[in-house]
Amino acid sequence: MRDIAPTHRYRNNDKAIGVGNAFWDMSEQNGLAGIVAELEDGVLRTAEGHEFVNFTCCSYLDLDSHPAVIEGAIAALRRFGVLDHCIPRSRVQIPALLELEASLGELFGADVVSAISAGVASAGLLPLIASGHLGNGVRPLMVFDKNCHVSMAGAKPSCADETEVVSCDHHDVGFLEDMCKQYRRVCYVVDGSDSLGGYAPVLELAELQEKYGLLVYYDDSHSISAYGERGIGYVRTHCPVLDERTITVATLNKAFGTSGAAIMLDGYPKQVLRIVERFAGALSYSQPMNTAAVGASLASAEIHRTPELGLLQKRLYANIELFDSLVTSEQAGSTYPIRVVPVSDETVVAAGRKVFEAGFYVSPVFFPIVARGTAGLRVMLRAGQTEEQIRALCAVLGEATAA
Ligand SMILES: *Cc1c(COP(=O)(O)O)cnc(C)c1O
Repeated sequence: MRDIAPTHRYRNNDKAIGVGNAFWDMSEQNGLAGIVAELEDGVLRTAEGHEFVNFTCCSYLDLDSHPAVIEGAIAALRRFGVLDHCIPRSRVQIPALLELEASLGELFGADVVSAISAGVASAGLLPLIASGHLGNGVRPLMVFDKNCHVSMAGAKPSCADETEVVSCDHHDVGFLEDMCKQYRRVCYVVDGSDSLGGYAPVLELAELQEKYGLLVYYDDSHSISAYGERGIGYVRTHCPVLDERTITVATLNKAFGTSGAAIMLDGYPKQVLRIVERFAGALSYSQPMNTAAVGASLASAEIHRTPELGLLQKRLYANIELFDSLVTSEQAGSTYPIRVVPVSDETVVAAGRKVFEAGFYVSPVFFPIVARGTAGLRVMLRAGQTEEQIRALCAVLGEATAA
């Protein structure tokens, strides 16, 4: 019998599971993962009757439970009369997705193609970029930021079958410039807004885009809706290069409050949009956003066009400021809704338990999920959290992390 020696050039399950599973086991053993609870009026309740407020939920504007969004989902089901008319959309489709893409296109000021999730979008788009079919026709060197979200990093092996793939240090603009001098084309794959706080250096990257034609693939899932005029997100608010050289994807699952994803493109001809529909992995053969998700998204897009969006953003920012006034973190002062309250690797799980017992869920992150010495309790602020809840959480955090 022959044994197989894996190459592990771009992925390694032995390592990923070996490292990550211990983290999950320890979290679950301490009651901080694997929690099942019903949601009612913003409070979660387990079958055993423990009540808690979720401070690790990415629905930053609470649009996921907005009555208009729920009604939108129901209305679309009634209007289109089908949840998912199962056939590739490139052959036959009901008008639901086209209506949504027109609406999101107007909202974000881009040509929008929808996908069932940002993960599916990246898995499908990145190999098309690698082969030059999405871009300017030149096969680029694909540079993945070391910290890019797993939904993008997971596409490395399929990109590597089409072109050269490398990783770079977090936001290493100097390395990118070096590569731009050596390769006819470079594509940088990066989060527009990081899941542990912080934003991409869009202006510095724009300089490389202007000077060398660098293509940047941004995943702006964490800032869409929560940031910018009408919620257009961090990248599209600040990036001066909105043409073939910038591609942005964003989930509709987080602050947008629905389900699905938007791929935002500028300046690509219709034929390229067709290539995306026909060849971007699961976009071409798997189910698209279903009618309920489309209806909810149409309703959320409408909210984005009204002053209510600005009010919700203001409430979110006020909650972030209140939190910052009570608890120190590296992210304090930023408009970004995620904070990591530093706690040692040894005590972070116990601290997380204490906070949970006091009625708040915050997620502990610790080695090996993050580097040693950077452990902490991850807190996410939302527009719908009350001042009372935030003050109470901060008092508990102070006690739990004092030890
Ligand atoms: C949450 C998140 C995703 C996942 O989005 P889905 O639409 O659920 O696939 C992808 N990318 C980033 C950066 C995220 O934070």
